Amino acid sequence: MSVRETLAGSPDVRRTNLAVLLRHLHLDGPMRRAELTDRLGLTRSTVADLVGELARLGAVEQLVADNRAGHTGRGRPSPVVRPCALGTQVLAGEVQVDQVEVALVGLGGTVLRRDRRPLPDRAPTTAAELVTTIATELAAKAPGRVLGLGVAVPGVTRDADGNVRFAPNLGWRDVTFGRLLESRMPGAHVQVVNDADAGALAEHLRGVARGCGDVVFVEGDVGIGSGVIIGGQPLVGAGGYAGELGHMVVVGREGQRCRCGSVGCWETEIGRQAVARALGLRADVPRNSLVEALHAIGPDGPRLLSQVARHLGSGLANVVNIFNPGLIVLGGLLREVYPLVSSEVRHSMFAGALAAPAEQVRLALPELGDDAVLFGAAETVWRRALIDPAGALAA
Ligand SMILES: [Zn+2]
Repeated sequence: MSVRETLAGSPDVRRTNLAVLLRHLHLDGPMRRAELTDRLGLTRSTVADLVGELARLGAVEQLVADNRAGHTGRGRPSPVVRPCALGTQVLAGEVQVDQVEVALVGLGGTVLRRDRRPLPDRAPTTAAELVTTIATELAAKAPGRVLGLGVAVPGVTRDADGNVRFAPNLGWRDVTFGRLLESRMPGAHVQVVNDADAGALAEHLRGVARGCGDVVFVEGDVGIGSGVIIGGQPLVGAGGYAGELGHMVVVGREGQRCRCGSVGCWETEIGRQAVARALGLRADVPRNSLVEALHAIGPDGPRLLSQVARHLGSGLANVVNIFNPGLIVLGGLLREVYPLVSSEVRHSMFAGALAAPAEQVRLALPELGDDAVLFGAAETVWRRALIDPAGALAA
């Protein structure tokens, strides 16, 4: 028996191996047991034992291979192991300025059910009530155990307790949002996360930024949120507030006044209101109408949006200079805006960025579309629960 196999029998190492194995299946989907053996670098019998324990916990199922692909020619073909979406779920929510969405997400990232409702007003209690009402309804219909609720909010959030320190576009300051949610769902594990941090995490784990360790996700709506991943880890800062790129000043005194109190912030120049103004629409036009207008824009688009494009590019130049990302993902409303003015955005970005980091950056649209934030909110719960699968799933 090798040292590695001896260690594999110790409780701590076994817990880690179970977590790593389940994480491979959760993020990469069904695969043959032989591939898991290769990925984990353990023996076949150890992996068979670990998979057996996860199967007993209802986290995975093993399917006997029905074709000869993957058959090594010796013995029986390796069974396919797949995560059981119906056995274990989490609830993922997203609070936006005018609506709330909650989804029931199975292990492996399958959305089983979802519900979206308009937010009648922006009071924190209204948002908490709506999120937990939908979450409770979805949990009642859940086919398996529900590990917790992760909710993304467009604001500066404190990881430790879910306090929203500042969400200017909701008008929230120092809101104990985590506690408001917990008080309405007693006993549930609740996690509150910044929306763009959630989007960054989801695109990094499941989307266009997979395999890229240095990523900046920029989520455009009324405000501009951003999530930064450096060296494969989310950049959180001392209190969890790092990466508020929307309030980087890009214009100065001649810019618009921002809800944060400053003038000429990036979000006042490229956010939903700036895009609406550029198209000659009311600043408070609903998001759907604005997206429709962008889709119907015609050849005049680049001219109308040229100022937005310039400011988007100059802000991206700062992002490139500060973080040296390999990839910048433009999500939310920017997913609609960027393709219309990509050459002007890139021109402005390359004009303002240093050559060395600019040579390394790619700009991309999110692969998960509008679901990036919701998936990321789900991952914040999975990440915590799956550190110890046996402990979390046996409970
Ligand atoms: Zn600001």
